Amino acid sequence: MYKFSANYIYLGNGEILKYGIIKLNEEGKITEIVDTKGVLKEEAGMQFYGGIIVPGFVNTHCHLELSHLRGEITKHTHLHGFIKELQSKRKQLSLVEIQKAAQIADKRMRAAGIVAVGDISNDAYTIPVKANSSIKYINFIETFGTNFEKAQLIFSEAKKLQKEFTDNKLTAFVVPHAPYSLSKELFELIKHNSVLENAIQSIHNQETPSENDLLSSKTGELFEMFSSWGLNMNYIEHLAESSLKYFAKKMNHKSKTLLIHNTFTKAEDIVFAKNHFEQLYWAFCPKANLYIENQLPDVSVFRENNCTICLGTDSLASNDSLSILDEMLEIQKVFPEIPFSELLQWATINGAKALGLEQTLGSIEIGKTPGLNLISDFDFKNNIISSKSKVTVLI
Ligand SMILES: [Zn+2]
Repeated sequence: MYKFSANYIYLGNGEILKYGIIKLNEEGKITEIVDTKGVLKEEAGMQFYGGIIVPGFVNTHCHLELSHLRGEITKHTHLHGFIKELQSKRKQLSLVEIQKAAQIADKRMRAAGIVAVGDISNDAYTIPVKANSSIKYINFIETFGTNFEKAQLIFSEAKKLQKEFTDNKLTAFVVPHAPYSLSKELFELIKHNSVLENAIQSIHNQETPSENDLLSSKTGELFEMFSSWGLNMNYIEHLAESSLKYFAKKMNHKSKTLLIHNTFTKAEDIVFAKNHFEQLYWAFCPKANLYIENQLPDVSVFRENNCTICLGTDSLASNDSLSILDEMLEIQKVFPEIPFSELLQWATINGAKALGLEQTLGSIEIGKTPGLNLISDFDFKNNIISSKSKVTVLI
């Protein structure tokens, strides 16, 4: 049996216990939570830590298969520049080297206190890493293709890849890549499949202003790049007021939906999406946004609209670390008015709900196995994390 105590225990659901004690069995399942009412207690076998104890972090958006690209892609080139460079560099290493980088990234994520990851996958490369990882992966098989004649083929390939994951006891769903990269036909196949499987959906949303330009007026940097590739732009059969309004009806509005990035999403779109999707989660990846577009989403507008927010790291192609604590710190720097306990919910329980893992992860509750992190060098005076704060995995 394990017994842990610290200056404060953040349960992850908003509740905080001063000098609380958490007891767990050998498997890491929580068996008892003791509220000492702020009185420091000694107990045989108890480990006391200076700092705060929080549930394991949930990273709702990553691309483990791009881990070998750390430091390879130029910063601040906007999404079209990022895509161009990524295309040329993503497979320049051998499979063994790609897998080795994924293996290291997986271990580092766990050491950074991450217990679950929503991971975008285009290939089967990461299956061996994930099948042997202590992190729970929810895999999103990413599809794209603007040629309607190839829609069925692309979809069938994605289903095959999904089966490779599920054959290895890994959860996987087929999802669209982004609003601008799929034909209407491919969107329809995925939507139909999502309804059948009640699949969790994920899509990159409004990561760059040129995404809105493309789908509202066929202009902008993405439009110019696709045109220069000789792409037939007729796959965009209708225009909409915004990218979000363009793709919303092309997706299953009933099942859990993660909108990723949302860097250029305006209040009007937020209200529209909240009305349209029944189970909506907004995933922010602040460090990747700064890397690619050098801009953060207007987090305050999402809070004003009571959005359910969760956090992601994106990949090492657009980030120098895969750490949810680092992402929290980035948001806290720009939006210091957000209470730490709220930010922590984004990093834990909201992410667990988004990935359908809230029965076991995301908060410190009896019967759950959420993993426990110690955050040391916490700024108790201001109740915030600082650049000195560190994560240590307790269990
Ligand atoms: Zn991404």
